[in-house]
Amino acid sequence: MMLEMLRNIVQRVNTAETLEEALNIIVFRVREAMGTEVCSVYLRDPLSNRLVFRATEGLNKNQIGLLSLAHDEGLVGLVATREEPVNLDNASQHPNFALLDGIGEEPFHAFLGVPIIHHKIVLGVLVVQQAQRRKFDESDEAFLVTMSAQLAGVIAHAQVTGSIQDEYTDASERPAGSTRVSGIGGSPGVAVGTVAVVSPVADLYAVPKKTATDRRAELRAFKQALESVRADVRAVAANLVDQLNAEDRALFDVYLSILDDSTIGAEVASLIKAGQWAQGALSQVMIEHIRHFEQMEHSYLRERAVDVKDLGTRVLSYLQAEAQDRREYSDRVILVGEELTASMLGEVPREKLVALVSVRGSGNSHVAILARAMGVPTVMGAVDLPYTKLDGKTVIIDGYNGVVHLNPSDMLLERFEELIAQEAALTKDLEALRDSDCETADGHRVPLFVNTGLMADVAISLDRGAEGVGLYRTEVPFLMQERFPSEEEQRQLYRQQLEAFAPKSVTMRTLDIGGDKSLPYFPIEEENPFLGWRGIRVTLDHPEIFLAQVRAMLKANVGLGNLRIMLPMVSNLQELQEAIDLVDRSYEEVLQEGYALTERPPIGVMVEVPAAVYQARAMARKVDFLSVGSNDLTQYLLAVDRNNARVADLYHAYHPAVIHALRWVSDSAHIEGKPVSICGELAGDPGAAVLLTAMGFDTLSMNSISLPKVKKALRSVMLEDAQRLLDEVLLMDNSDQIQRQVSDFLAERGMAQFVPVDLSEQTL
Ligand code: PEP
Ligand code: MG
Repeated sequence: MMLEMLRNIVQRVNTAETLEEALNIIVFRVREAMGTEVCSVYLRDPLSNRLVFRATEGLNKNQIGLLSLAHDEGLVGLVATREEPVNLDNASQHPNFALLDGIGEEPFHAFLGVPIIHHKIVLGVLVVQQAQRRKFDESDEAFLVTMSAQLAGVIAHAQVTGSIQDEYTDASERPAGSTRVSGIGGSPGVAVGTVAVVSPVADLYAVPKKTATDRRAELRAFKQALESVRADVRAVAANLVDQLNAEDRALFDVYLSILDDSTIGAEVASLIKAGQWAQGALSQVMIEHIRHFEQMEHSYLRERAVDVKDLGTRVLSYLQAEAQDRREYSDRVILVGEELTASMLGEVPREKLVALVSVRGSGNSHVAILARAMGVPTVMGAVDLPYTKLDGKTVIIDGYNGVVHLNPSDMLLERFEELIAQEAALTKDLEALRDSDCETADGHRVPLFVNTGLMADVAISLDRGAEGVGLYRTEVPFLMQERFPSEEEQRQLYRQQLEAFAPKSVTMRTLDIGGDKSLPYFPIEEENPFLGWRGIRVTLDHPEIFLAQVRAMLKANVGLGNLRIMLPMVSNLQELQEAIDLVDRSYEEVLQEGYALTERPPIGVMVEVPAAVYQARAMARKVDFLSVGSNDLTQYLLAVDRNNARVADLYHAYHPAVIHALRWVSDSAHIEGKPVSICGELAGDPGAAVLLTAMGFDTLSMNSISLPKVKKALRSVMLEDAQRLLDEVLLMDNSDQIQRQVSDFLAERGMAQFVPVDLSEQTL
């Protein structure tokens, strides 16, 4: 009963279009559910830090938005500062009691206030009051706490949405500062630009809201689209005329009659005339009609919902195609979508595309991989982004920290424009380093390798002075296919990579799928995919896939000899042995096929599971090299999902546990006389690169964009100083302290521009 009530309220609040509406539903419903006389919400204004009276049922509504309390004033302030409920039978006797003049709370004695907290931050206070002198009981308190915890997320979301609205019913609702929405950094870099929302092709439920700039053109487009669909339906009917009986043919007439139905057409037209763009008007009307049909009692009529949806979708496709032709992009486009796909990137000319934001997806999504290859700053997994309302708005993208700044103030825009200019200047500066070796100021060589996946990566990598490939992610080309590529197809692909870099070495990783990387033709659905069937576990269970891949690599290597093979996600020695045996078997098979193989290429193992850290020596004895996958290693050491924006602030690349593990692996490899490299994102962080060099990593492999910066950083430091920094860091017990120490080290050597910053109004 109570659970149902909670659910009902949250559901209702979720349907609200604005923050104001959400708050009104909350106070109305909570007052009703608790049977009290008053329910109000106070929200904290982040800039003034005051608690503003924002909604009420039972007190004076005229004062909404006008009255406020200091953050620690009155009982409401007490709830907010203590971050705990306050439950009193006679509020006026409490020492903190401060009467807010004008809201009419004098007659109400009993007071129960609970904080509204989202991600550790107090958003405000939810209060119920009653005239009768009585204490709200334990279950009232528990109910209100539960309610508030659930509503916090909804309120936070509504606040973000509210911050980008053009029209405010209530002036107090317009936020003075920008609003940040966090996701995951998908590709580094910062950008300022105008949002263009891309929607999936012909999805009535994903059409962004927009006002029509030219209503007549929108109307014309709608009529034209209707005409085209009519023509299509007639053409299909005509084609099938011989094969269908009269009854079936009548179905097409039903179809056409839905389209001709003057109500649908008229409703859409009137919405367009009222200012909506054609796609928005169509989707709104169609969705209403679909819902209407779905609720019909008669099953025949319920079925019509499918027809209505199909027709609406067809009309939408025409509208989208037409809008795409007509669409003009600003000079700095930020493409935003619910789930961006690689094909959507092609919609905007490259020179205008400055950034990408995808509401869903992770750093491993296809789009993020492409974005890194193209050097386009990207934020993934920005789940709280009210993207359908963003079209045409100016936003800031911070691909380093995975943040989108909405409604940015002039001050913030200015700072980011400066940062963009600095980055451009730095890129130019760094070009000069292209042909110089990567070595420390005192001559210690650290070869810089790149991580690749797409052919597009090759040219850029060579251009930036890569000395080899430390990680070729073979799953990337696999993602582009509609089935597993054949051995011969793979051979050609691998040959291209090997040839492009020869004689520099290319480290090819065997297929690493599972986790968040699933192939469209080989879906893996699991409750807990990162601890499930991924990496080597999949390919050892499917030796046919593994063998074909390794054979293709070996054949591609003929006459070049720059191939190295690397095994992902190994968590024990049996797996490692089994994989090595399979590589040996492939080698024999290819030899027997008559290929002129020289010796078997080096085999390496990735250290990306904590177990592999502690077995690094035993593993090193079995292979030719180790390579640390710090992305996964960090995720598993800290038990923090690398793709979950909610815990992104716990994903500490500089966590002492990570630093110690890295040093342990490096030492273990060297004790066994084997080289060790690192191929996670960490290697591309200039500060971390200094630490890794001090630890003795033999090569660093990174995203090609980071390479020039890392080279510059390493060329600016003495190995001895780097080692001293490492010694200091190894004694520290928290990530922030380590981060600060490394940042200071860089800044002291004139590399303040390599220190990561997370700009926001509060830090300006
Ligand atoms: C890693 O885990 O650090 C790594 C390099 O592999 P991937 O990012 O492809 O999982
Ligand atoms: Mg990995």
